[in-house]
Amino acid sequence: MFTEEQKSFRDMLRKVTEKEVAPIASRIDETDEFPYELAELFGELGLLSLWVPEEYGGAGGDLTTVCIAKEELGRASLTASALAANNSIGLILPVLHMGTEEQKQKYLPISASGKVITAIGMTEPGTGSDVRSMKTFAKRQGNDSYVINGQKSWITWGGVADYVLVFAKTSEGTSSDSISAFLVDTKTPGFRVGRKERKMGRNGAPNHELFFEDMVVPADCMLGEEGTGFKGCMKILDLNRPTVAGSSLGLAQGALDTALAFAKERVQFGRAVSQFQGMQFKFADMHMKTEAARALLYSVCAEIDSGDHSRLAMLGAVSKCYVTDVAMEVTTEAVQAMGSAGYSKEYPVERMMRDAKLNQILEGTNEIQRMIIGRNLAAA
Ligand SMILES: Cc1cc2nc3c(=O)[nH]c(=O)nc-3n(C[C@H](O)[C@H](O)[C@H](O)COP(=O)(O)OP(=O)(O)OC[C@H]3O[C@@H](n4cnc5c(N)ncnc54)[C@H](O)[C@@H]3O)c2cc1C
Repeated sequence: MFTEEQKSFRDMLRKVTEKEVAPIASRIDETDEFPYELAELFGELGLLSLWVPEEYGGAGGDLTTVCIAKEELGRASLTASALAANNSIGLILPVLHMGTEEQKQKYLPISASGKVITAIGMTEPGTGSDVRSMKTFAKRQGNDSYVINGQKSWITWGGVADYVLVFAKTSEGTSSDSISAFLVDTKTPGFRVGRKERKMGRNGAPNHELFFEDMVVPADCMLGEEGTGFKGCMKILDLNRPTVAGSSLGLAQGALDTALAFAKERVQFGRAVSQFQGMQFKFADMHMKTEAARALLYSVCAEIDSGDHSRLAMLGAVSKCYVTDVAMEVTTEAVQAMGSAGYSKEYPVERMMRDAKLNQILEGTNEIQRMIIGRNLAAA
């Protein structure tokens, strides 16, 4: 399934995960503090700039590579997994797919430096699944600038980001061509970080409200033409959704491994609980689902990496929805298989179960993914 290069990348990351990530995963969850040490390490390892082509100073890489990274890190921590390749959605993919050559020359090397954190701002208090109902507005001012006013919510890394990809209306109405995309520098006056959300999981990956108050940004930070932001955003989401699946696959595998190791040691009725057929059936189901999810995800990656994007929306939705649903089932069963130990913070599976829930919600809820899949089937 993987090339030799991808296998050695995976093996390297497995070691990094065991040595650097697993030991601090529970602390990150409990303190809910942004793991600056991981950001630095990931920057050095090139994990913040995966997918930046070599010609722009990056490590190259493709969707498969990103998913390998997400899966390996996800075995120990969803937060670490989300941080790796996080710049894909905030900067790399938008600039690659919507930017001019000048913007690529400007932003991609910045990302390749491994020192920037980016965020993507679509959601607002009244705007979740229905992106077109957003209220944030960017008003053109002369030829050279826009003035942005509005509010975004739930923005991952928004409080620590150097750049935020902000989606804003540039004309009235709810049509898709009323939305444009701006890559804004968070040092710009008028940008303000608001409340930090208190969450069920993925702690350490902070979510903040962001405010834009008469924030004047240069017109050349707009990605794509005015009014093409929505379309561009949908393509980026389609490309990025398999990476959410990658993180969830890691969670499923991590939870299964932990529960199985525990069951081999835990003795009840004079036998290791892994010897009971009822438990073996449970583990068999968890294993089958995880393997099926892995096969689906990497076949989707291979098709997209081949350059054939004719089924992009469908593949993004199918992989995101299926694998994140599997991770929810497997992590929940892992807790069950460990009994009270599964429910305890002494073990990682309760955290994995809380974290797995998130990936069924973000980057388009799984109801929205089913809508995309159903629509594509009905239209075919
Ligand atoms: C931890 C976390 C991190 C996030 N990070 C970011 C980020 O970095 N940037 C960003 O912009 N956003 C981010 N979000 C927001 C996230 O993308 C939204 O929460 C998500 O898109 C759903 O929007 P909503 O929560 O407003 O739910 P709503 O859209 O209000 O949906 C509520 C329920 O209705 C269902 N529903 C809605 N419409 C339909 C429909 N047409 N058919 C059937 N069911 C429907 C949904 O599936 C859901 O179950 C984050 C959210 C969380 C929790």
